[in-house]
Formats: sequence, structure tokens, C-alpha cells
Amino acid sequence: MANVVLKKVTKAFGNVVVQKDIDLEIIDGEFIAFVGPSGCGKTTLLRMIAGLEDITSGDLYIDNRRVNDIPPSERSISMVFQSYALYPHLNLKDNMTFGLRLKKTDPKEIEERLDYATSILQLGSQLEKKPKELSGGQQQRVAIGRTLVNRPKVLLFDEPLSNLDASLRVQMRIEISKLHKRLNSTMVYVTHDQVEAMTMADRIVVLEGGRIAQVGTPLELYHYPENRFVAGFIGSPKMNFINAKVVELNNEGVKVQLPNGSALTVQVEHDSLTVGDSVSVGIRPEHIDTSVSEQCNSGEPVTEGLTLSSEIQVLEQLGHETQIYVEATCIESDLIIRYFDVADVALGQQFKFRLPEYRCHLFKKDGTAC
Ligand code: ATP
Repeated sequence: MANVVLKKVTKAFGNVVVQKDIDLEIIDGEFIAFVGPSGCGKTTLLRMIAGLEDITSGDLYIDNRRVNDIPPSERSISMVFQSYALYPHLNLKDNMTFGLRLKKTDPKEIEERLDYATSILQLGSQLEKKPKELSGGQQQRVAIGRTLVNRPKVLLFDEPLSNLDASLRVQMRIEISKLHKRLNSTMVYVTHDQVEAMTMADRIVVLEGGRIAQVGTPLELYHYPENRFVAGFIGSPKMNFINAKVVELNNEGVKVQLPNGSALTVQVEHDSLTVGDSVSVGIRPEHIDTSVSEQCNSGEPVTEGLTLSSEIQVLEQLGHETQIYVEATCIESDLIIRYFDVADVALGQQFKFRLPEYRCHLFKKDGTAC
């Protein structure tokens, strides 16, 4: 295992800067995921760590050694690609040991390393087969096996599960997580699938336009997004946002007025806010209270938060939950609401819900969280 440290790492292709001043420390044995929208620079960052892309400026250290000018083969890293990158004419055994044979590793040691990798990945009975005789999941296992025989200090994964179907993705996700626990090696994993990142990673790096938007554990990012970008990116369906104006700063937090004139007090710090500031209130679809319909009907008082009724525009019945899209014209927002059951509602119907104040996030005009 090894740590990986990036200090002010910048990457430009010609005049176009695609990574700017990236500072990051990946700890020994940590599983870290890079996520972000397409084109934000996840793969470029991984390829710089691998040595497959030059670093334009800044410093990269692996295992406390500056490796900017060290070729990939001498960095103690190994990379698993989305495309598996197996040699089609070689059987699995030769695919996995090709690199070691090239390095003239002792044949006995090659056998030992092969046994180790095949036992971990349960590939023993397949070794004589060619890649085309295997399923996508098995091919990806071979690609991982090929990295394991090299005993790398750092394992890099570039969207390794993208070519697999949904159920195989889940299975491989669990296998890679188990592998990490077993090997305890440093792993850096690029994915555009936030569920993969949330379930596998110790920490997630969210990238936006070549910069780090936030680094944190999955739950830190979910509960305490530092900006509106991360708040909208982490969580599915994404967080709802409602435009508002600050009307009062008090001991309880920030009182804001929504477009319909009603007020909410969001319990956040307000050092950098002033009355009159434009802000946005964020609330996750799963945090909108849907029990309020029954509560209102039973005559129970609804004391905290804002209760609204809006027309249902789209319904997505998933069995275990229903995703209800409403057009909340009074607050000039389309909202997504998660109802954790089959909802007995219809399109066009009015739906009552409540925005609990303690569940609300607040973002300043520049997108930073309060
Ligand atoms: P995706 O999720 O779509 O794979 P990504 O986040 O991995 O995207 P990168 O592939 O790292 O993004 O690309 C980041 C930016 O760098 C993009 O604007 C891309 O067009 C640009 N880029 C990547 N490789 C090159 C290259 N070899 N030459 C020029 N520009 C490049």
C-alpha cells in the first residue's frame, strides 16, 4: 500500500486547461472515488496518477516519492480499464502473467502470484479459456487479476463496470469492495455512477470543470454539501432548489421568504448573509414530508415547516417507492418527492406535502452553502 499526494497539479491540452491546481492526499489503504459530470476531468486525473498523461505543472507523489518523471511501469501502480484491455489471442493464464513474463520474473513466483489472484477472484477453472469465451463480468475479473499479480501498491480503476449489465454491476461492485477489504490496498476508482461511489468509497472526490468541488465521506457529502453543485450532484433523484430571499437573521437561523410570500427558518449559520440577499433553499426528495395529507385530514396540527398542495405532473411507480413530480407554481418550482410505498394517487391530482425546516439546506447566490 501507498499514499498518493497531488500538490497543485494542473493539466493542459494545448491551451486548454482541464485540471487546475488539484490538491489531494489519498491515504494508505484508502478507497477513493472520483465522480463528476462528463468532461470534468476524472479520467485525466487518474491517467496522470498512472503516468499515462504528463503533468503540466505541480507535483505527484506515490509512496512519498515524486513520480512526475517516472514511467508507469516503475510507479507501483496497476490500472483496470473499462474496456478490460485483454489480449484476445492469449488464454486467461497468459493474459494475467504476460507482464510478469516480460519482466523475466522467476517462473515459480509467477505461479504463486497467479494462484493468489485466481483464488481471490475464483477464476481457477477458467485459466485455459480465451477472453471471448467469457462473460463481461468474468473478463473484468481477469483484468483485475492481471493487476493483482503485479502486486501494485496502488490500484487504479477507470469506470471498470460501465460495460456490464445492471445486476452484474451490483455483483462486481460487492466483489471489488470485498477485494479492497481483503487486500487493504490503496484504490482510486473513477465512475460516473454515484451509487458505486457512495457504496464503495471511503471518501469521494467530486470534480466540477477540472476543479475539486468537495472531498468527503459519502455521508459528509450527502448531509453537508459545501456548495449547490455537490448538493445537486450527490443524491438521486437530485436535491430540489427553491429561490428565496433572506428576510430576517435571528437566533434560530435564517428566515427566508419563498415566492408565495410564506416564510421558512433554516437552521444554519448566517455570518455572511444580509437581509435582502437572494438565496436558494435545497431539500432532498426523500426529506419532503408526505405524511402530511393524512395528518391534515385527521385534524392533527402541522406545526413546523411549510405545507403546500400542488398538481402531480409525472408519476414513477417503482414498487418500493413512488417518485412524484409536482409543479409547485406558488413557489415557482418543480419538485420531486419520494413517497416510500405505492402511492394511491393519479396524474393531475393535487398532492399535499410539507417542507420540514430542519431538513432544508441554504445556498448563497454564489452557490456556497450557509
Ligand atoms: P467522462 O465521464 O465523459 O469520461 P471525464 O470526467 O473522465 O469524462 P476527461 O476524459 O478526463 O473527463 O476529459 C476532461 C477534459 O479534457 C474534456 O474536456 C476532454 O475533452 C479533454 N481531453 C481529454 N483528453 C484529451 C486529449 N488527449 N486531448 C485534448 N483534450 C482532451
